[in-house]
Amino acid sequence: MKDTPLLKSGFAREWGESLISLIYPERCPVCDDVLSGTEKDEHICEECSAKIRFINSPRCFKCGCALPDDSEEYCRACKMRKHVYDRGLALFEYDTVRISMYRFKYSGREEYAKFYAKAAYEELGKEIAKWGPDGIVPVPMYAAKKRVRGYDQAESFATEFGELMGIPVYTDMVKRVRATAPMKTLSARERGANLKNAFIIGRDDVKLRQVLVVDDIYTTGSTIDAVAAVLKGAGVDKVWFLTLSEGRGI
Ligand SMILES: [Zn+2]
Ligand SMILES: [Zn+2]
Repeated sequence: MKDTPLLKSGFAREWGESLISLIYPERCPVCDDVLSGTEKDEHICEECSAKIRFINSPRCFKCGCALPDDSEEYCRACKMRKHVYDRGLALFEYDTVRISMYRFKYSGREEYAKFYAKAAYEELGKEIAKWGPDGIVPVPMYAAKKRVRGYDQAESFATEFGELMGIPVYTDMVKRVRATAPMKTLSARERGANLKNAFIIGRDDVKLRQVLVVDDIYTTGSTIDAVAAVLKGAGVDKVWFLTLSEGRGI
């Protein structure tokens, strides 16, 4: 929750937060049931916590997708296609979070970001810290779309994750300057064309060397590549990514 002047003082803020939790009780990001007291600390219900699955090793050295065994370093897609980004990881197996991510995106469940960020921090935080990003940049949503939705899910996830990692989040570093067609309706070639000139650098007062780009889903990598190209064009050396999940052909 963002601070408003009214809620600045500790007491007023606590009071404000408990009022909000009465009206909008925190829900499980998987089954959407209201969470009990102890479950609230984990931001997930006990039952779903036992069922949720993370992407396991061995992973592709480039896109981070699960490989059948460790005889190869890269997946077939990464062998066939060069990426602009350097390397990345997705967190959950897609089936585990498909419906959750849909609600996160389209049903106003911004609060799920807390669970996603905590899970990402616990599962992948050490590895990402080793990469040493000096800034986190969420893949931006087109401003008009954000106004309609009320929030940008990648930004909410990135903000919560950055706070846990102690890495600054730059929500205005890259801007999406035009509306793009939904990627799931397009072929790989069309995705590239769809994203052409869609992003620009939003500020030049911050110089970052290594950036972690954060998005909700990785499919072909076109979006991450488009953002990575803009960042590298502005002098960034390395671009890593973190997404909630990955799904081929989604
Ligand atoms: Zn649940
Ligand atoms: Zn790969």
